[in-house]
Parts: sequence; C-alpha cells; structure tokens
Amino acid sequence: MTGATPDRAAPTRETIVAFLADIFERRGAESYLGEDVTMAEHMLQGAALAEQAGAADALVAAALLHDIGHFTSEFGAYSPEDTKDKHHDAAGARVLEPFFPPVITDCVRLHVAAKRYLCATDPGYFDQLSQASVHTLSLQGGPMSEAEVAAFEANPFHEVAVRVRKWDDQGKVAGMKTKAFSDYAELLQKIVDAQAEAAK
Ligand code: FE
Repeated sequence: MTGATPDRAAPTRETIVAFLADIFERRGAESYLGEDVTMAEHMLQGAALAEQAGAADALVAAALLHDIGHFTSEFGAYSPEDTKDKHHDAAGARVLEPFFPPVITDCVRLHVAAKRYLCATDPGYFDQLSQASVHTLSLQGGPMSEAEVAAFEANPFHEVAVRVRKWDDQGKVAGMKTKAFSDYAELLQKIVDAQAEAAK
C-alpha cells in the first residue's frame, strides 16, 4: 500500500474537492485491476462517457467518483478492511456520504451490484465484460438471484446506477483523451454546496 496519510485532517465541505483531487493526483497512476488504463484514466473516462451521453451533473460526478473506494485508506479512521480493494463499492459510498447526495452515493454503492444485476437480466451483457471484470464477478457473488434482482429494482436509483455501471464498463480504453480531474472541480463543488444547503 502506498500513499496512506491517516493523520491528515478529515475533509470538510470546503476541502473535499481538493481532497479528492489530491487523491487523483497522487494515486491516479495506479493500475486499474489488470485493465489497460490507470485508476484516474478509468474514472475520467467514465465521467467523459456520462457527459457524452448528456447525463445530469450528478451522474457525471458519480461516474467520476465510482471507484474512489479503492483509496479509502486516504480517508483516515476506517476499519482496516476498508484499505483493501474488496467492498470498494460500500467503502466509496461511505466516504462520499457526508458531502454528496444519495443519487451519487447510491450509484457508487451499487456499481458492483449493478454488474451482477445486468448479468442476471441483460442477455449479452456478460459477453462484453472485460476479462478482469469477469474474474471479479465470481468474487462478487456472480449474477444476481431472482430475489436479489427484485431487491435491486426496489432501489429508486437502480436505473441510474445501471447507467453509471455501463460507463464504468466502457471506461477502459487505452489512450482515450479526457478532461483532467480539475476540470470537474467546479461541478463537484456545486453539488457539495447544494447538498450542504439542503441539509441545513
Ligand atoms: Fe470502475
């Protein structure tokens, strides 16, 4: 493990965007689980695909941040298991929850479940998964059962979580040109500020 700085001050509304930018800056070059892209390239590609699809800002943010749970050691006082890649979906949602609205945190929390959901409900989806994604599918529980599908569909954000999942799957293109994280700073801060105001 590299770059953990658990003694750093916990992020606030004012610092969370810079905090996330710093993680992208220092850790973004790490490889994305055997894919041809780095972690930062992968997440920036997800955001770019969301923008190309004309998605709302919240979904662009969700695509941009969906794998932030791979870096939860950056967020300080969490359980030791959170520093590992397993359960990065739940870990990512947990670190974003104080700052971002449920549509974003649920897309992050459900992005692994959405893969299992699509494998159970969308014939042909499995065939276009990357090798690494097929491998992790088995570790993640394989395709959903009927009961799991019903539970997933009960979540009001399940459809947008599926959209984010598809950008996740497509964001694995070596050499694709994207914006930089800093290009999304304003969009993210707007969402954080709106969430803070709504919580007042
Ligand atoms: Fe991903």
